[in-house]
Amino acid sequence: MRLLLVAFLAFLTLIPTVSPAEEPAKPKLLVVIVFDQMRGDYIDRWQPLFGEDGFKRLQTKGAWFTDCHYPYASTITGPGHASILSGTGPNKHGIIHNDWYDRQAGATVNCASNDRYQFVPALKKAPVDPEKITTTPSTEKLAGNPERMMCETVADVLKAKTKGRVIGLSLKDRGALLPVGHSPDAAYWFNGQFLTSTFYRESVPQWVSDFNKSGLAESYFVKEWTAFKPELDYNKWVGPDTAPGEGKGVSQGVKFPHPTTGGAKLPGGKYYDAVATSPFGNELLLAFAKSCIDAEKLGQTEAADLLTISFSSNDLIGHVYGPDSQEVLDTTLRSDAVVAELLKHLDAKVGAGKYAVMVTADHGICPLPEHSAKLGKDAKRVSSIALIAGAEKHLREKFGEPEPASGKTKARWIEAIAAPHVYLNHRLIAAKKRTVKEVTDAFAAYLRKQDGVHSVFTGEQLSAPFVPNEETFLTMAKRSFYPARGGDVYVILKPFYLIGTTSTVERLATGTTHGSPHPYDTHVPLIAFGPGVPGGSRSEKVTPLHVAAIASWFLDIPKPKDAEYELPKSLLRN
Ligand SMILES: [Zn+2]
Repeated sequence: MRLLLVAFLAFLTLIPTVSPAEEPAKPKLLVVIVFDQMRGDYIDRWQPLFGEDGFKRLQTKGAWFTDCHYPYASTITGPGHASILSGTGPNKHGIIHNDWYDRQAGATVNCASNDRYQFVPALKKAPVDPEKITTTPSTEKLAGNPERMMCETVADVLKAKTKGRVIGLSLKDRGALLPVGHSPDAAYWFNGQFLTSTFYRESVPQWVSDFNKSGLAESYFVKEWTAFKPELDYNKWVGPDTAPGEGKGVSQGVKFPHPTTGGAKLPGGKYYDAVATSPFGNELLLAFAKSCIDAEKLGQTEAADLLTISFSSNDLIGHVYGPDSQEVLDTTLRSDAVVAELLKHLDAKVGAGKYAVMVTADHGICPLPEHSAKLGKDAKRVSSIALIAGAEKHLREKFGEPEPASGKTKARWIEAIAAPHVYLNHRLIAAKKRTVKEVTDAFAAYLRKQDGVHSVFTGEQLSAPFVPNEETFLTMAKRSFYPARGGDVYVILKPFYLIGTTSTVERLATGTTHGSPHPYDTHVPLIAFGPGVPGGSRSEKVTPLHVAAIASWFLDIPKPKDAEYELPKSLLRN
């Protein structure tokens, strides 16, 4: 009997080892990779061209969500990076655009910088930004910080609840700092060198200085951007190298090989813009990320860490050459190699099975109108100058000529534009004894009749409560609207139409952009790869805002306060 009891007790102690925990150990490091401008279809249509160790490893060994769309209309870099790890949209986090008009300040403000902080180390040169839509002087010389972000992110929860460390990296300030919230250990971006701001720290660690001194950022000066896979017939996959509507980048020309000097005589100035607008920009950031993982020992200490990496070159290149170009195909193949290299590094430094990786994007991109037209689609470039001039003239005819505001300049009915937001002149409306509603409604009615305009919503419509189960462009625009920051009207163009985005400079004579609720702008990749997640593709409808829930699950912390989504149902079973 006693023997039996001993045997039974011995059996009991064995139970934990014969029945291992259902859930594997949580990862020591979560890496959230954002490709700035990557449409969800790229990693599907070009998958046969990928190697085994990059995207394909994540697509087959992780959960690959093929039907991932932004649920809001403002598919732009600032809003995307603010949404991914907060799990909510611009209506909650307040990042409605990269730059918007601040009525009280009477000036355009930037989503990720203000004049309260300094660069660390001091600024050398700011990179070119094709998304600048400001009507007032450039804000790119201001040092980055998250003070305009109104929500917490997964990073804030991690910092509050654990000893885990948080670092955000990108070439763009907003790409580096918005995902990692208000209290990261560091955020670094590129302005001719990797830097941060006094919001985060007073000096950079030795490894950042060493990296900047290494000369890597300057080493691309003598390199031309040539085909990554010269043996592959790019023509067969995307058509000819030179297509109508393609731009020339930063003195890079329309076809391969693309020089990387930026037209400069020495590395500096425009040269750095050219590097950022080539796949070398991603390679530079990858090298910096590897140095960061090593120097900061991410995933190699007790608490789980969070690293976000936003690769910006895809966006700068995509704006110039369009999504159906050999350049974007080439950049995507090189992005696959970047992912492979990063995974290899994580395998070596953190250990396979001990880290998790998520991949998504901040937005997609509209095809070049010339490309769409060739396919028989109704597609066009609309002149912003003509549209705005026509609208201003209409308002003057209807509500009267403005008096000269000061000196000889007449005030304007249209005060500022941060497309798709347009801001009317409220002082002028009051002076003319009109109401904002009256002028806004007339303005919206005029715009609705113009060529290329799909729909126009007023601030009043966008501030109305959500209607349950209603999924329309109005719902998507409501999620993009933060009343204190939004315009009087919100303009959505017809699909495949593009418009210049400022009143004074005609842009987009070539190239393309994003920022609409159309599927080519909302569709992005979403992959979750890590311990406990079975591999394979998922057809469940998800959004990039689901990343917040999945990331919190990987990190074993509560979701951020405003996160709107639960774990996708198909994440843990396939
Ligand atoms: Zn962009």
